[in-house]
Order: sequence, then C-alpha cells, then structure tokens
Amino acid sequence: MDITVAYFHPLLHPDTIKRDFEQIRATGASSIVYPIHEQEDQRWPRDLERGLLQAQDVGLKTHISLGRYGNLFAGPSLMPSWYTFRHPHSRVLDRHGRYHEISCFNNQPFRQWLFDEIERLLRSYPINGILIDEPRGLEVSCFCPVCRALCPDVSDLVRFRRRSMIDFLGELCACVKRVDANIKTTAVLLPLDLSLVEELTTLPALDTVGCHVFWNLLHESVCQVQAWGNTLVQTTRQHQKRSQLWLQNFSIDEEMEKEMEVAFHHITSVEPDGIGCYYYWRNNADPERIWNSTRYLLRRIPRRQLHWQKAHVTSQ
Ligand SMILES: [Zn+2]
Repeated sequence: MDITVAYFHPLLHPDTIKRDFEQIRATGASSIVYPIHEQEDQRWPRDLERGLLQAQDVGLKTHISLGRYGNLFAGPSLMPSWYTFRHPHSRVLDRHGRYHEISCFNNQPFRQWLFDEIERLLRSYPINGILIDEPRGLEVSCFCPVCRALCPDVSDLVRFRRRSMIDFLGELCACVKRVDANIKTTAVLLPLDLSLVEELTTLPALDTVGCHVFWNLLHESVCQVQAWGNTLVQTTRQHQKRSQLWLQNFSIDEEMEKEMEVAFHHITSVEPDGIGCYYYWRNNADPERIWNSTRYLLRRIPRRQLHWQKAHVTSQ
C-alpha cells in the first residue's frame, strides 16, 4: 500500500522543509502532493523548484495538484482562479443567462491555456505526477455558445455535460503523458461523485482514481468510509486502475480522534493500492497529536507492503 502525504505548506524555508520531508519519509510514505495555485509559480519559481527537489532528495515522488485552475479543482487556498477572473467569457452560462464562477471545460481557449500551463509546469519543475483534486463542473448545465454548438439537443445537455467532463479529464491526462509517459496521473473524487469512477476507468492516460472519504467533513457516519472505499476499490480493480483512499486527519477535535482511527481501519480493510493523508493540515484541535496519531496509524500498515523498505534493506 503506497502512502502519499499532502504537504500544504510554503516551501520557503529549506531547513524546515528538510525536517518535514524526513518525517514524512519516515512514516513509509513514497510520495507527497504539493498544490500549486496559478498565482504562485509566477512569484516563487525558485522556491518551488528547490522544495520539490528536496522532496526527491529524501526519496519522495512529487505529485502536483492544480489548485483551483479555472475554479474546476479544489485547492488549499480559498482563492478564485486568476484565469477565470481575467477571462469572464470562459465561464459557465446557465439557461437563465447567468454566469457561474467556473470556466467551462468546453471553452477552447481555456482548455488550450490549461494544457499549455500543465506542459510548462512539467517541463520547468521536478514533477513525478499530476493530481486532479475533486474535479467539478456537473452542477450546472452550460448554455455557453461552445456547448450549444456541440450539443444542439437541449434534452441531452445533462448527459452531454458528463461526457464532456470525462473527455476533458481524459485529454488533460493525455497531455501529461505526451510530455512524459512516466508521469503519473491521479483523479481524486468526493464520495458524491463516485458514480464517475466507472467512466474514469475508461481513460487510458489516467493511472489512479482516489476518493476523499471525509466522513466528518461531509457529516456522515464513519461507517460510510468502508462503503465508499469498497465501491472505489472494487470498480478500479475490475478495470486495472489503481485506487487511493484519503484519511481525514484535519478538522479533527478531541471527540473525533477515535473516529479517525476507525476511519483508518475501514480504509485499510478494503485494501486500496494507496492511502493518502495530510501533514499538519488545517483546523485540528491538537495539531501535534493528530500528526503523531497519523504516524502511528501509518506504521501499522504491514511493513512487507512497503516497497521502499525492501530497496532500503538491499542497499545496506
Ligand atoms: Zn459551456
């Protein structure tokens, strides 16, 4: 079971980063996820490059999450997409002629810009993977000129939207693989979007489908973690894709700590190919204790499943 730890912290202080990455590596993690928002690589490209290299130096693969590009993906900063702000006509237009704060993934200039940006990032920085975080776009049927031209039949608009989204994500992953076939692609969904998994597994350039089984954030019982996890793991396994389940180790208060352990147990019981969690992420009542519990839980993953350790032993 691969362990991925999301690192949502600035890369400005090399000594702090080194300590953090060594701690992450010591949990048995093989990868980090680092989010980039559009504004950031314009302002601190050196820090980004140095930080990602520091991760690779301790043996961690670097996966980049496209933070809120086009307002289509999640991201740690609650900031709107710079592109969408500057290109208001790229936005989704509903049947009443109202714009929504999200770029339409059928808008050609937006697509071209996004794919060019991805290619530029992959060529500029030491990156081993791209993570698509909670892709959105199905909430509203779009009546923008592009969507109307592509789907003249109004009664088919809902299904068309869904097909378009899958096609868009497929093209995004293909764009990554065109730069380098070894770069990994992951799409992580919220449980309410699990019905997309079957279609996502048809995308040849997508390697891993994940799910944010965040029971507490979604006001669900912790038992749901097992049901969601099982759906994801079974569907991806049938279609020879990898699965990844994310532990909610943020926004946890003292009462919820026990449930976090239960959630972890549910996650490992369905045997995903990978597990994800966060390094000191937001709004925990006792941040240090949550990270320590997370480390403790990760160490309970059977050691033989950790490929890195085999390599470590042989190199001694
Ligand atoms: Zn549209």
